[in-house]
Amino acid sequence: MNKEKKEEQLSKLKEKMLKDNSLPLKKGAKNLVFGEGDADSRVMFIGEGPGYWEDQKARPFVGNAGALLNFALHSIKVPRERVFITNVVHHRPPNNRDPLPEELEAYGKYLDKMIEIINPSVIATLGRFSMGKFLPGAMISKIHGKVHESSWKGRGVTIIPMYHPAAALRNLQIKQQFMEDFKKILEVREKVFDKKEIEQMELV
Ligand code: URA
Repeated sequence: MNKEKKEEQLSKLKEKMLKDNSLPLKKGAKNLVFGEGDADSRVMFIGEGPGYWEDQKARPFVGNAGALLNFALHSIKVPRERVFITNVVHHRPPNNRDPLPEELEAYGKYLDKMIEIINPSVIATLGRFSMGKFLPGAMISKIHGKVHESSWKGRGVTIIPMYHPAAALRNLQIKQQFMEDFKKILEVREKVFDKKEIEQMELV
């Protein structure tokens, strides 16, 4: 699928989500936070769920956790617009509580479709709920920053589990790990960017 087709499919999916009144967190939220970025990106970042500012602005990772995510992307010279960023739930849970299993399931159907359309080679999970989708039962403290050759719906995908940036903001040691784990994206850069981009972004 070319980029235009992916963009078209993503906007159709977003329309469908906007109309879906069965989504369990919709009532308490101001906006749907679908996700944003390059529809043709070969890397996806998947976080937990929108917080206050994301709900206000209908964009993922635009609060404090987002500022750290931007900083980490900048540290490896990857422009935010060049990746795709979304969450496991796309409406803000009340008081930022953890998403419930039935919520993960309801939004998961849309997330699966998003992944199918974008078709990334690499998925960086941010936090344990996103990690749990791809590596169930894993412990983040044990496997963060490790590159996992995995499969998703029958196709190969590289999973890089990372701490959630909000956890990194609360603990200096986790922040250091989080920044270090980002460098793993450079290890798999050939899967994510083409040669010209690698040179242009000085990812060599
Ligand atoms: N935390 C998340 O998990 N996602 C966001 O979009 C913002 C904060």
